Amino acid sequence: MDLSIVIPLYNEEENVEQLYTQLKAALEGVGREYEIIIVDDGSTDGSFDVLKRLHEGDERLKVIRFRRNFGQTAAFAAGFDRSQGQVVITLDADLQNDPADIPLLLEKIEEGYDVVSGWRLHRQDPFLTRRLPSIIANWLISQVTGVHLHDYGCSLKAYRREVVKNVQLYGELHRFIPAIANWMGVSVAEVPVSHHRRRFGKSKYGLSRTARVLLDLLTVRFLLSYSTRPIHIFGGLGLISFVAGIGLGGYLSFVKFALGQKIGDRPLLLLAILLMVLGVQLISMGLLGELVVRTYYETLDKPIYAVREVLEIRD
Ligand code: UDP
Ligand code: MG
Repeated sequence: MDLSIVIPLYNEEENVEQLYTQLKAALEGVGREYEIIIVDDGSTDGSFDVLKRLHEGDERLKVIRFRRNFGQTAAFAAGFDRSQGQVVITLDADLQNDPADIPLLLEKIEEGYDVVSGWRLHRQDPFLTRRLPSIIANWLISQVTGVHLHDYGCSLKAYRREVVKNVQLYGELHRFIPAIANWMGVSVAEVPVSHHRRRFGKSKYGLSRTARVLLDLLTVRFLLSYSTRPIHIFGGLGLISFVAGIGLGGYLSFVKFALGQKIGDRPLLLLAILLMVLGVQLISMGLLGELVVRTYYETLDKPIYAVREVLEIRD
């Protein structure tokens, strides 16, 4: 299997049929072995009936139906788990992405990139509530993760199989896949893709998503840089705080015993105590973190590295 197309779908009754037709046309043009995996994320409209009918006429269309609405990230994860293609391509089911752009992404993958992200140059969404927050979010995510992309939110993306096999998705982390995958050392490319106004059905998100994206960014940053060495970040801060506290305490003891002044009413005393307690707290948190990390990696059998290839002679 060369290609897997993974599509999360939630209440897109009017879009399903046309999506399928456009996909078919695009994929037949590519001339590769492919499968289409549509994940029905607990739709409550007639989406599933349409999917079922389409599936009956096409064995290359696979449909996964969730029991309830688990969210777009979960839908991607389910699709990835069942995908078999060497290249996995994701897109939205609402016809805002254009299946005709798939060959563009594939071209980049063939050039050797591991992740290719669509970039909606002429995005057809409201400016204030969608495009502006997205511009800021993209800038911030790029700065924080070090993977510079113009359009993290674009669902139309292509990944090599190793990439999707190596990222675990939680919460709403699907938009961060390029950044998460970067820990294993991937090459990322961007291609401009077209974007259309939503014609049928409603968008499932509003402004509140921006806040969640920011919190997720915090998680991603932490996972990327310190997940294997929590003692370094917590312990480092803890040490600074503890040493500063001891220093202040020493100074106050000097004032008390050598100079014979009263120190009971000095705010500095409070600060010294605060810093020492905080230091001990932070260091213990780092140590606890180390325990948690060991459990995490060992129970999940997660490697702390990613190998591209091995050259060795075996007998
Ligand atoms: N979607 C989903 N589960 C959800 C919300 C959305 O599978 O809980 C799907 C939806 O059907 C669409 C895609 O995710 O195919 C993107 O959703 P939407 O178009 O509402 O987001 P927007 O394009 O407005 O950011
Ligand atoms: Mg949409």
